[in-house]
Amino acid sequence: MTKITHDIMRKIREVSILDVADRLHVDYSSRGGRYRMCRCFMHDDRHPSMWIKPQENKWRCEVCAKGGSHIDLVMEHEGLSFADACQWFVREFNLFSLNDHQRFFLPKRKNTQVPRGNCVVKHDSKEFGIISDEYLTLCRGTRNTFCHSLVENKVLTAQQMEHAAEAYKLGTTNDGGVIFWQIDEKQRVRDGKIMFYKEDCHRCKMRKPSWVSYRLIRKGELPHDWKGKHCLFGLHLVTGRNCNDNKVIAIVESEKTAIICSEIFPCSQERKPITWLATGGMSNLSIDMLAPLVGYKVIIFPDTDTEGKTYKQWREIAKAAQQVLHHAFYVSDILEREATMEEKERKIDIADFLLRKQ
Ligand SMILES: [Zn+2]
Repeated sequence: MTKITHDIMRKIREVSILDVADRLHVDYSSRGGRYRMCRCFMHDDRHPSMWIKPQENKWRCEVCAKGGSHIDLVMEHEGLSFADACQWFVREFNLFSLNDHQRFFLPKRKNTQVPRGNCVVKHDSKEFGIISDEYLTLCRGTRNTFCHSLVENKVLTAQQMEHAAEAYKLGTTNDGGVIFWQIDEKQRVRDGKIMFYKEDCHRCKMRKPSWVSYRLIRKGELPHDWKGKHCLFGLHLVTGRNCNDNKVIAIVESEKTAIICSEIFPCSQERKPITWLATGGMSNLSIDMLAPLVGYKVIIFPDTDTEGKTYKQWREIAKAAQQVLHHAFYVSDILEREATMEEKERKIDIADFLLRKQ
């Protein structure tokens, strides 16, 4: 196994999709122009319905509604994970870098370098505390400024708000805050993030977000040494691995974006159901958080800014997660490509962008 470094990744990207098609014995028309047509290998294709765009290193079958980069082509054709497809490129095109050879002469380091979250992929409840789900029932409700403002400002209809509040089990504190519960894939309540919003749907900057666990510790309802572990907001919606393998998981930064998108964009263009999850902050994404999503198609949507900071950071984490978990996590660059400068200055998210497009 070759370590997939930045350098190797760059070399993989430089390989032409036509060379990849040749290796895979995917026959394409020799006609010039922007598109090459070929018979799709995924369905019984009599008339070529798959195209390859050599200039962009892209392909797609319109019938199967599948396509992507030349790496996706290898993954699809050979039935490989992203990590294994990268290894395929290294073997087929001899993409070794100097670093690789140098590595043999260096003492082995114990841990491979990853940006955040270490390599600990354990989910043992003895490791972290859990909050009783009685609190979920106790705090259930939409009588908070967050839910109220989304309806008042016509972001969601009252019915959509109720529906989303039910799905995400939103709660309300007695001082008007909204509780974004973090419930994991095993339906364990990890914690609840309390946030305050203004009537215009924006966060109230005067009031800092807080946690249900802090309040319970202060009230003596949780022990002082209680230690929790955060998970993705909405993770409890990711269940039934076997029956829903066509499900798409989308990850965004803010809980609000996940809630809005879940109502407005419940399905992908290919009519696949999307489950919207949130990290709750730019610096919260970690390998640990992504671990329960192995096996699903995961697309990560970073917010944008003028320097593409979140995009770069999240792409690094997704890459590291790919290596550790041997599963592909796609990071969408749609905002980096398509948001205007003015939108980047406003640091818009995918919900803002899609709503504008509508
Ligand atoms: Zn096809």
